[in-house]
Amino acid sequence: MSNHVIVAIDGYSSCGKSTLAKALAKKLHFIYVDSGAMYRAVALYFLRKKIDLHNHEQIAEALKNIHLNFHSRDYETHITLNDEEVSDEIRQMPVSETVSSVSAIREVRKEMVKQQQRMGRTKSIVMDGRDIGTAVFPDAPVKIFMTADPLVRAERRFKELKHKHPEITLEEVFENLAHRDYQDTTRTESPLVRAKDAIVLDNTNLTPDQQLEFALKKVEPFV
Ligand code: C5P
Repeated sequence: MSNHVIVAIDGYSSCGKSTLAKALAKKLHFIYVDSGAMYRAVALYFLRKKIDLHNHEQIAEALKNIHLNFHSRDYETHITLNDEEVSDEIRQMPVSETVSSVSAIREVRKEMVKQQQRMGRTKSIVMDGRDIGTAVFPDAPVKIFMTADPLVRAERRFKELKHKHPEITLEEVFENLAHRDYQDTTRTESPLVRAKDAIVLDNTNLTPDQQLEFALKKVEPFV
């Protein structure tokens, strides 16, 4: 039997997946992997290089030239794209607006899933995303599917973004989340869907501590 544990956290945009995943990883001394950051970094590269999302040759070539690396400090996501730190830039609106179209591309998913599975081969990890419990680690012993009221989610994300981006509006954030949820749940390739064996966690009315307590109870039998 393998002696490392995978915790898969999936769910809609901005429903606190990374807050929970980071807190769990910290508590359990697991590695935290933000799979969305990988799709965002690919989207940033495609934007910069003006890759045509319908041109499969261009996409394949671009993927060969993308090297992503995580540098874990304090359980925050620090990701480099070809050795350039892009952690801040991948959270900005141009990337948020295009990432769901990029992540729907089969070749992109194939490459990211391969890299994600490699990360979980030998170490205990908490990974959050959209297809972690269904496609990346279908055998994960703990799967959590997160959801929350759409307006509450938009307000949370708006609060996070407005310090660095005072021009942003709540409506813009709400629209972006709704649009991404739509694209992520309706795409052909690994759409966002609850794995049959995933536990649902609706955190609309939960504090971060309460959701951590809930999740820890589910993981404890396996550690
Ligand atoms: O998690 P985050 O909101 O940063 O993810 C950004 C986008 O990346 C999602 O809207 C989704 O399109 C894509 N994604 C995905 N599969 C994952 C993680 C993220 O398709 N495992």
